[in-house]
Amino acid sequence: MITGITVKHYAYCPHIVRLEALGFSERISEAMLEGQQIDKEKEVSFLFTKYKEIIRKPVYRWKDLVGSPDFVLHAYNYYTPLDVKAGRVPRLDHKYQILFYSYIMDRLGITVKEAMLYYVYGKKLIRLQYGEAEKKFVEKLIGWIREAMNGEIKVVQKREKCENCGFFSYCKPRKVGKLYYTL
Ligand code: SF4
Repeated sequence: MITGITVKHYAYCPHIVRLEALGFSERISEAMLEGQQIDKEKEVSFLFTKYKEIIRKPVYRWKDLVGSPDFVLHAYNYYTPLDVKAGRVPRLDHKYQILFYSYIMDRLGITVKEAMLYYVYGKKLIRLQYGEAEKKFVEKLIGWIREAMNGEIKVVQKREKCENCGFFSYCKPRKVGKLYYTL
């Protein structure tokens, strides 16, 4: 099964999805606990008046893909997944995750034209277009994730990334200069 968390982890480091496939779980960090304390509904309620319906934490499943955005905003003839994040600036892993949710919705026959991310500390709303190019990208991404789950890739990461990784103690990467190597 590939979930939104799998996608987010892959974007951070492909080796994480291999470790998860082997049964390891992420160490809980202070940042994660801080994120859980945010009142997401309150933070994005300014958006809600513009939509016909707000769907809270739906779970979408298509084949072995599962996604659960924080909210889905329903306009007249399309739906927009929205995730609320604690940080200040947009991150690639969050973008991949929300596009993955858009893809599952699309495969289920739900019309999606864009996806959104809201950063609470930065008070920043990011709109991402979802169309044919994004759909093809997500299909490639899913293929890469499946390869990583099967352990077919080697990873080299920057020191800061590994030392902030919740899987560091299971991964035990080899340090060479300013880089870490998984094999
Ligand atoms: S410790 Fe480094 S190489 Fe290992 S999973 Fe984390 S980021 Fe990837």
